[in-house]
Amino acid sequence: MSDTKEPEEIQTPLLDELEKGPWPSFVTDLKDLSEKKPAVKQLLGQLEESYETRTDHWLGTVINLDGYGGGVIGRYSDVVDKFPAMARFNTIRILEPSAWVYSTAALRELCDISEKHSAGILQFHGMTGDILMLGSDNEQTFEAGEELMEKGWDLGGSGAAMRTLACCVGPARCEMSCFDTLGLTKYITDTFISELHRPEFPYKYKFKLSGCANDCACSMQRSDMPIIGTWRDGIQVDQEEVARFIDERGERSVMNTVIARCPTQCMTLKDRKIIIDDDNCVHCMHCINVMHRALSIGRDRGVTILIGGKRSLKIGDTMSSVLVPFMKMESEEDWERLTDLVRRIWDFWGEHGMEHERVGEFIDRVGLGTFLDGIGLEPDPQMVNQPRSNPYIKFEEYTRPRMAGEEKKAPSVLNKEPDGEETIS
Ligand code: SF4
Ligand code: SF4
Repeated sequence: MSDTKEPEEIQTPLLDELEKGPWPSFVTDLKDLSEKKPAVKQLLGQLEESYETRTDHWLGTVINLDGYGGGVIGRYSDVVDKFPAMARFNTIRILEPSAWVYSTAALRELCDISEKHSAGILQFHGMTGDILMLGSDNEQTFEAGEELMEKGWDLGGSGAAMRTLACCVGPARCEMSCFDTLGLTKYITDTFISELHRPEFPYKYKFKLSGCANDCACSMQRSDMPIIGTWRDGIQVDQEEVARFIDERGERSVMNTVIARCPTQCMTLKDRKIIIDDDNCVHCMHCINVMHRALSIGRDRGVTILIGGKRSLKIGDTMSSVLVPFMKMESEEDWERLTDLVRRIWDFWGEHGMEHERVGEFIDRVGLGTFLDGIGLEPDPQMVNQPRSNPYIKFEEYTRPRMAGEEKKAPSVLNKEPDGEETIS
């Protein structure tokens, strides 16, 4: 006797609970969609079964479109006897525009392609940042790929490759942005498009770009190379706006919500004026977020480049650490200096990294000193694991042991910039 569940046999009491309450429900949307796409009914049935058994019933495989080494996640079910339409329910990753800015025409085009060649489910956006088109069988996957490319879309990354970049909306809408997050995201994507489509690294490599330390792209936790906007002069203070803020909210409010909450206690309020000891400001953004008319980011802007954030694998979850404390990021020459640094990291990690070893795990294994030697970057006291408590490098230990009476020398790292300019500016 067949185990296959007929549509009328598929009941979803647990999923139905998720339709209760005032919020929109993906269950209601999928039920509506199942009127047009019968496979979606079986998808709901399998999901209900997962909730009952607390087991994930998806298995994965690799499917490559011509010329691509990634971008499609082959999905199939281990309860296919009950839900035969789940024999192939692939996910196609599609490269999204910088900061997820779309025209309505582009969104309609994606919806049409999705309805034609998949289960009609689009996800904006997956954890990787890509647009996800869900539920195509193998033949539909190839048809969808062809139509996407004909219309100017491209596939996203998967596997041991550079992954699709993600960035915050940056200067397109946000006055806090210290650099052009959208332009740099496009530049890195275009420069390394081959590395995105053809996996050849030890493991995945993610960039995420945030225009300031508010880090709306969650780059610190979720990327191997976060690029975060900052400045190196002083915070701009408009004392007239400070006075207006005090008139509206009172001095106590400024003391309680701004001055007392500065993490380095580098702000004072005197005679209705804010004074900042900029040498001790760590550019955390707190005061600017609260008094965004009176205080604004400095004028000498650039980025801090970090390395090593990721979810669990060999050494558990890690946050990124500072690699380059400050780099200007205004011109194409600045962008090229960044991509040159990236190539040096990929060369060294690519040669010495183990299979499935993220770059942060690689640094943890070989040590930051060796890593900096390998990529040709001078060590800097600001390359710290946990600021102000646990420096990665002890300079005395990092330099080789000296013989009695021998003069102390700098660590033997080379700056491999071809023109001899410093990489850290
Ligand atoms: S990270 Fe900063 S610049 Fe980017 S959107 Fe958030 S607040 Fe604005
Ligand atoms: S940005 Fe942060 S550290 Fe700097 S003055 Fe404002 S609150 Fe203090």
